[in-house]
Amino acid sequence: MSCEDLVPADFAARFSSGVIRCKDAQKSFMKVLISGAGIAGLALAHCLGRKGYRPIVVEKSSSLRDYGYMLGLVGTGYEVAERTNLLPALEAVQHNPDRMVYLNPQGEEKFAVEDKALERLEGPHELNLMRGDIERVLYENAADAIDLRFATTIQSIDQQDGSVRVALSDGSEEECDLVVGADGLHSQVRALTFGTEKRFVRFLGCHVAAYILDRSHVPDVASNTTYTLTEPNRSVSLVTTGDSKLVAIFMYRAEHEHRLGTVEAELREVFAGMSWHVPFLLERCSETTDVYFDEVSQVEMPAWSSGRVVLLGDAGYAVSLIAGQGASMALAGAYILAEELTTTPNDVAGALERYEYHLRPKIARIQRVGRRNVGVFLPANRFQLALRDFGIRFAGSAPAAPFASLARKFFTPSGNLYQSRRK
Ligand SMILES: Cc1cc2nc3c(=O)[nH]c(=O)nc-3n(C[C@H](O)[C@H](O)[C@H](O)COP(=O)(O)OP(=O)(O)OC[C@H]3O[C@@H](n4cnc5c(N)ncnc54)[C@H](O)[C@@H]3O)c2cc1C
Repeated sequence: MSCEDLVPADFAARFSSGVIRCKDAQKSFMKVLISGAGIAGLALAHCLGRKGYRPIVVEKSSSLRDYGYMLGLVGTGYEVAERTNLLPALEAVQHNPDRMVYLNPQGEEKFAVEDKALERLEGPHELNLMRGDIERVLYENAADAIDLRFATTIQSIDQQDGSVRVALSDGSEEECDLVVGADGLHSQVRALTFGTEKRFVRFLGCHVAAYILDRSHVPDVASNTTYTLTEPNRSVSLVTTGDSKLVAIFMYRAEHEHRLGTVEAELREVFAGMSWHVPFLLERCSETTDVYFDEVSQVEMPAWSSGRVVLLGDAGYAVSLIAGQGASMALAGAYILAEELTTTPNDVAGALERYEYHLRPKIARIQRVGRRNVGVFLPANRFQLALRDFGIRFAGSAPAAPFASLARKFFTPSGNLYQSRRK
């Protein structure tokens, strides 16, 4: 079953009739508690802060996460950055590559995408950013409006008539009007409210690991360049960020959903025999403490809210890194949710229904593309790999220029923030 199948047939009618009303008192500033200070949680805090709210944000980590990986903000994500005046700050920390180099198994350049070809592939509105930089920009813009509590998690959620009581890991309790689970793919809020992860998470059959290293360790990489070495079922990329850092990203197909041993052990086994800088990168990985690792999955839920608890970002509708729009959708969801909540602060249920109404069709489309694109990231055999390479070269070529925007829509169907109605 896809996310699209989960949109009730009468959704539009229910939405326009505004059938769900909450019993809320006449409050204009509701108390919102957000779990997770990732892109989704901080973006919601920023959007609510702009409307005069002061949400509480609880975050499991003891500080903002400064590690991460490179990601692209396209279409909707870019539009939200523009609408919330974050664009200048994000542009100041972007690392747009000038060249994307594809390597053969010996580590030699097979072909490269650059200049006009790169523009055609990426489109006019693309920002390449480190995840940590996006979170820092969001935090800096929201800091005055947030009560941010690090090293704190939600222990229990008790929905009462017209409010939610939350027990926190520091021993305190909060009574709120709304709890937002923006705590990622393995959301605790989702588990507490909707049930175990395996009911909602669809494993796409691959794993990803990423870590940051000093550029000085791999001196022969050029500035502003992304290198990718793909072999059937496995792929390694090196992305240069600024003058001093590199991001190494490992992706591979895996039959088992959960990692069998340590990250290093699994990577060593899967990437054994690959040439280029791979043996060195595997060695560095063992010495690095901040290695991101996860399965590549999507989250599909019949509803994103239950009473006064709502899910946002990967927690509610992860599209996967293969769809390349999880961050953009975290921003889109945060913006729409904040708009709807502040439009009808006395009708939380109606706001949550409209949030889902605006976002769910877009998520369903992107998730479908994510599932289809697994073979683009990780071709299963040499024939698929050759086809993938041909597709990239053709899409960037001058003869394909008239179809470039069509091709981008096919692979990253981001579209506008609102399909219609609200501008
Ligand atoms: C390698 C890679 C490349 C990607 N590339 C792109 C791309 O090009 N474009 C794109 O748009 N997206 C991309 N994505 C996806 C994107 O990074 C995610 O979709 C997005 O970051 C999700 O943000 P989030 O805030 O919903 O979740 P998360 O980033 O998972 O943040 C969740 C936050 O909640 C915290 N937390 C977790 N549990 C708890 C708890 N119990 N209590 C309190 N806090 C908790 C976490 O510490 C974290 O701060 C990529 C992902 C990967 C892995």
